[in-house]
Amino acid sequence: MIEKKTFPLSKAALDDLAKKYPTPFYLYDEKGIRENARAIGGAFGAFPAFKEHFAVKALPNPVILKLLAAEGFGADCSSYAELLLAGMAGITGGDIMFTSNNTPAGEYRTALDMGAVINLDDFTHIEYLEKHARIPELISCRYNPGPLKAGNAIIGKPEEAKYGFTREQLMAAYPLLQKKGAKRFGLHTMVASNELSLEYHIETARIIFSLALEIFNTTGIKMEFVNLGGGVGIPYKPEDRAIDFRELAKGIETQYRNIIVPSGLAPLGVRIEWGRAVTGPYGWLVTRALHHKHIYREYVGLDSCMADLMRPALYGAYHHISVAGKEEDAAAEVYDVVGSLCENNDKFAIQRKLPKIEAGDFVIIHDAGAHGRAMGFNYNGKLRCGELLLHADGSITRIRRPETIDDYFATLVKEE
Ligand SMILES: *Cc1c(COP(=O)(O)O)cnc(C)c1O
Repeated sequence: MIEKKTFPLSKAALDDLAKKYPTPFYLYDEKGIRENARAIGGAFGAFPAFKEHFAVKALPNPVILKLLAAEGFGADCSSYAELLLAGMAGITGGDIMFTSNNTPAGEYRTALDMGAVINLDDFTHIEYLEKHARIPELISCRYNPGPLKAGNAIIGKPEEAKYGFTREQLMAAYPLLQKKGAKRFGLHTMVASNELSLEYHIETARIIFSLALEIFNTTGIKMEFVNLGGGVGIPYKPEDRAIDFRELAKGIETQYRNIIVPSGLAPLGVRIEWGRAVTGPYGWLVTRALHHKHIYREYVGLDSCMADLMRPALYGAYHHISVAGKEEDAAAEVYDVVGSLCENNDKFAIQRKLPKIEAGDFVIIHDAGAHGRAMGFNYNGKLRCGELLLHADGSITRIRRPETIDDYFATLVKEE
C-alpha cells in the first residue's frame, strides 16, 4: 500500500507564512505529535509503571518537550545540555533517564543532582561514578547482546557497536553495584535504529526479559524495570508500512506473560526511549527552490542545505519531497535536489521523480521531525534555520529563531 505523504498547510497559507518567517524553516504539527503520543501511551499503558522517555536528541526544543510532558512523557538525555533542556520543560527526577556513553564526571553529577536515573554504559563506569560522584539507590545498566542479535543499517551490528555491557559484565555489575549501596535496579538495551520490523522489536523484548530472569537466577537481584530503548522506525518511503503500536505492545506483552509472570518477577516496569517514532512524521523542512541547473543531470537548488538536515548525506536516507500546490501534478521530471554546501553529498534527493519545479516554489521535505534540525552544523558558514510550531487551533508560533551571522561569529576571540 502506498501512503500519501501530507503537509498541513496549503500553498496560500505558506505564501502568507513565508512573508512573516522566510524559508527555510522547520514546521512541527502539535496536533499530530499529541495524537501520536496518546496512541503510544494507549498501546503500552497496561505495562506496570510504563514510561516513555522521549529521546531529547531527536527534537531538542523545550516547547516540544513540554507538550510531550503534558502527555505523560519523560525524557531520555545523554548530555549536559539535554539534561538542562529537560529541566527547562519541567521534566525532572526519575522522569529523566540519563542514557549516555563515554560520560564525563560533571554530566553524571548534574544528572544525579536532578535525580535522573543513571543508565551506565560500561563496567568501568561503576568505579568512575563512585569516585567522581556517588552510586545512587536506583541505577540501570545498558546491555549489548553482541553476536546474539542481528544488525541494522544505522546503528550497525551490536558486536561492532560501542555501547553497553556484555552479558558476563552485567552478571558481575549488579552484585558490585549492590555492594556499593544500590538497592533498586534497571536493565536497558537499544540495538536498532529506524527499524520497521515488528518481529525485531518483539525479539529484543524477549532477549531483555530473558536476561532479567537470568540475572535474577544468577545473582538473586530483581530488576525494577527494563528499558527497551528507542529505534522504532517510521515510514520515510511512501511504500513503507508504519509499525502498529498496539500490535507491538501485544507482542511484547506475550513475551512478558511467557517469561516474567511465571518466574515471579512481575510486576516489572517497562520503559521505552523512543524519539523518531514520536515526532518524526510530524515535522517538515520547508524550503524554496532557488535555481535550476542543467548540465549532465538536472539540478534543483534549494535555499537550504545539509546544514539543516544531514540525514540524506550521512546515511543516504530517503526523505519524501513534495512541491506546494503541485501535489497532484505528474512527476514528469528527474532531479537531484541539492543544497549549497561545497560538498557533493549535499543532496536532499538523487535522481528523484518530481513535478516540474520553478524558482520560488515551496519544496517540502517530509518526516523531518526527529534527528532533523538537531543534527545541523555550521560548515561553510551556513546558518541553521529556525523552528515553527503549528498549534492545534491553527495558529503558528516561532519556537526557535534562525541563527544569525552574529551567532556564527560569537565564539571568535578578538585580537588584542
Ligand atoms: C538515539 C537514542 C534513542 C532514540 O532513538 P530513536 O531512533 O529516535 O527512537 C533512544 N535511546 C538512546 C540511548 C539513543 O541513543
